Amino acid sequence: MAYDVVIVGAGVTGAAIARELSRYRLRLLVLEKEAEPAFGVSKSNSGIIHAGTQNPPTSLKGWLCVEGNRLLREELAQDLGLSFTQCGQLVVIFDEADRPRLEEIRRDGEAMGVKGMSLVDRKWLDENEPNLGPEVKAALLVPSAGIISPYRFVYALAENAVRNGAELRASCRVTGITRIEKGGFYVEAGGDVIETRFLVNAAGLYADEISAMAGAPTFRITPRKGEEYLLDKKREHMTGRIIFPLPAGDSKGILVIKTSDGNPMIGPTAHETADKTDLSTTDEGLAEVLAGARRLIPSVSKDDIIAYFAGLRPASGKDFIIRHEDSAPGLVNAAGIQSPGLTAAPAIAVMVADILKQRGLRLEPKEQFHRLRPKPVHLFQVPLEETRHLIEKDRAYGDIVCRCELVSAQEIRDAVKRGARTMDGIKFRTRAQAGRCHGGFCTTRIMKIMEEELGLPATAITKRGPGSELIKDERK
Ligand SMILES: Cc1cc2nc3c(=O)[nH]c(=O)nc-3n(C[C@H](O)[C@H](O)[C@H](O)COP(=O)(O)OP(=O)(O)OC[C@H]3O[C@@H](n4cnc5c(N)ncnc54)[C@H](O)[C@@H]3O)c2cc1C
Repeated sequence: MAYDVVIVGAGVTGAAIARELSRYRLRLLVLEKEAEPAFGVSKSNSGIIHAGTQNPPTSLKGWLCVEGNRLLREELAQDLGLSFTQCGQLVVIFDEADRPRLEEIRRDGEAMGVKGMSLVDRKWLDENEPNLGPEVKAALLVPSAGIISPYRFVYALAENAVRNGAELRASCRVTGITRIEKGGFYVEAGGDVIETRFLVNAAGLYADEISAMAGAPTFRITPRKGEEYLLDKKREHMTGRIIFPLPAGDSKGILVIKTSDGNPMIGPTAHETADKTDLSTTDEGLAEVLAGARRLIPSVSKDDIIAYFAGLRPASGKDFIIRHEDSAPGLVNAAGIQSPGLTAAPAIAVMVADILKQRGLRLEPKEQFHRLRPKPVHLFQVPLEETRHLIEKDRAYGDIVCRCELVSAQEIRDAVKRGARTMDGIKFRTRAQAGRCHGGFCTTRIMKIMEEELGLPATAITKRGPGSELIKDERK
């Protein structure tokens, strides 16, 4: 067999599994249909590392969320140089009669190992979150929740997996899978046929199609759309924590979210859609989000909104589907990874490695596993004194390309060296083009740097892969 394990999908689930398996002496390949990792669901979410409190202890996702949160806080954030902020969360109530529900959430959380929770009253809230609305009566404080940049998390996992020997093929869509009679699979992808002993399906919204291709009984992924609205950085200090209402049904509700880059965000909605490509935002969604957010923080204004997007939760029923499929021996599905999949990914990865081991994959630790990844420099996070030192060492740190978000030419070059191949890849890694002017000033400078670093003509530079070229080649 050419590979021991082929992983379909380089979102947070696939990247975390690749990184976990790259500890062992295995031939690993990750196949991603998009031009870069993190271009699927993992790029469009709230970026919350959930504490694990709003899932029932009877759910797999509840336990994996608590364990993923622990792994990230205690190991991965440090090892992979991630900017994780443990800001904590508040689940608020608007009616004293709902106090027993807060107690219930606390009891469920404690049963799963969430630590340090406490009920806080209005006096505490006035002192610590003075912008909360007058309707808020009390809250459950959960200190282990935090925020992260979701795409930088995926890039860190993927980069570290590759550093440890995993192979990543982007722009490589899986189009067919054939089971080999004596065990394993032939995977058709990007014009090649790849032989592998085990196949891990982490294909997000398309996990149902990959599972069916491999011959396992089908389940259906029904996307649940979430619209999110990003606010201006001037509202950065609106709250110190992530603010949740009581959960309703399958949804955690409309939240006021701190993001790792400073801008607060409000959302997400939660509505099923039949279309796996429907990333539209709507007037109704905006109205719903504004109303929900204003009940928490009345000063939230429509004028604060600088950007918006929608993401699709790849849901299948109420829980994750993580299992070996006996009807397609060698296939492990990591499917239905709806929220809190970003948080749970590190724990999902450990669980998948364990399932593979039980199915006969030998997990022999490598002599040298490169656990650590140097933290990339982001000037917007660096104190002025340190910026001076950086510029003294390398003048390209003083050459500011994106004025809105303070991103230098050296950071763009570094992003390309770390794997960025598209304008969106640069944006997600560095924040260049993510500010108020949306790239109005910096796009041409970034393209120039990419031309130099990648040796490509400007006409080959794309926003997010083939078909999204920024300059039309008239000769074609
Ligand atoms: C609005 C919203 C808010 C959310 N907020 C949070 C949050 O705050 N915290 C949290 O923990 N979770 C959150 N989530 C959930 C979280 O984003 C997802 O659980 C997680 O990103 C799923 O990751 P994934 O890797 O499974 O899927 P994806 O990121 O979609 O990755 C799957 C990959 O497979 C690739 N692929 C698909 N088909 C093929 C094929 N045929 N060949 C090759 N590649 C293929 C895709 O291109 C994609 O890159 C949120 C989700 C949404 C939508």
